[in-house]
Amino acid sequence: MLKVDKLNFSYGDMQVIWDLDLVVNAGEIVTVVGANGAGKSTTLRNISRLVKWQSGSISFNDADLAKFEPHEVVEMGIVQVPEGRKIFPEMTVIENLRMGSFIKSARPKRDENIDRVFTMFPRLKEREKQLGGTMSGGEQQMLAIARGLMTNPKLILLDEPSLGLAPLMVKFIFDIIQEINRQGVTVLLVEQNVYQSLRIAHRAYVLETGRVVMTGVGEELLNNDHVKKAFLGM
Ligand code: ATP
Repeated sequence: MLKVDKLNFSYGDMQVIWDLDLVVNAGEIVTVVGANGAGKSTTLRNISRLVKWQSGSISFNDADLAKFEPHEVVEMGIVQVPEGRKIFPEMTVIENLRMGSFIKSARPKRDENIDRVFTMFPRLKEREKQLGGTMSGGEQQMLAIARGLMTNPKLILLDEPSLGLAPLMVKFIFDIIQEINRQGVTVLLVEQNVYQSLRIAHRAYVLETGRVVMTGVGEELLNNDHVKKAFLGM
C-alpha cells in the first residue's frame, strides 16, 4: 500500500532522514520506534506531504506522492493524527469531528462516521457539546483520532498517540488502535512507547538518527537484545 524508497530529507543544511526504506502492506499495523529526535515525525510529515523530500520516493497504491499536495493526499485516503493532538480547542467535540469530514470524499459518509466514532469512543458522545480545549489529554487524543477517522482513511498515520497519557489511558489507546485496524484501516504508528507499540504491531522498524537500523516482526523485536537494552531498559 505504502512504499518509501531511499528517502533523504533535510531541514535546511541538517539531514535528518538517510536512505530510509519502509513498506506498509494493506491491513497491517506497522510501527516505527525510536528515541526523541530519531526522525519519526519527519517521516510521517513527508508521507503527508507537509514537507518535501530531496531524494527518494514515496508511493501510495502505486501513485507517486511527489505529485500531490497535502489536501490531495487526504483525499487519496491517508490521514495523519499529529503529535500533541492539535484539535481545535475553541470548537466543540462535534464541530471538531465535522471538520474531519470536510473533504469531498468523506462528506457523504459524515453521519455514518459520526456514529462509528461515537461507538468507539462513548466518552466523546457524552461530551459532544463540550469545547475541545476543556477536555483532558486522553479525551483530546480520542478526539484527534476520531477526527482523523472522519476522513474515512485507508491508512492512518499516528504520531505518538500515547504521549503524556496515564497508564490506563495508554492501554485504552493501544486497544483502540487494534480495533481501528480490525475495522479495515491500515495503521502506521510512530511511538516512543516501544514496548506497547511492538506488542500490537505486525511489523516494526527501529529508527536511529534518521536511519533504519533494524526491522522485523513486532514480537521478535521485543525479544531482541539491542532493542531491550536501548529502549526497554533491560
Ligand atoms: P520526537 O518524538 O521528539 O518528535 P522524532 O523521532 O519524531 O522525535 P523528528 O521530530 O522527526 O524526530 O526530528 C528529527 C530531527 O529533525 C531532530 O533533530 C529535530 O531537532 C529536527 N527537526 C524537527 N523539526 C524541525 C524543523 N521544523 N526545523 C529544523 N529541524 C527540525
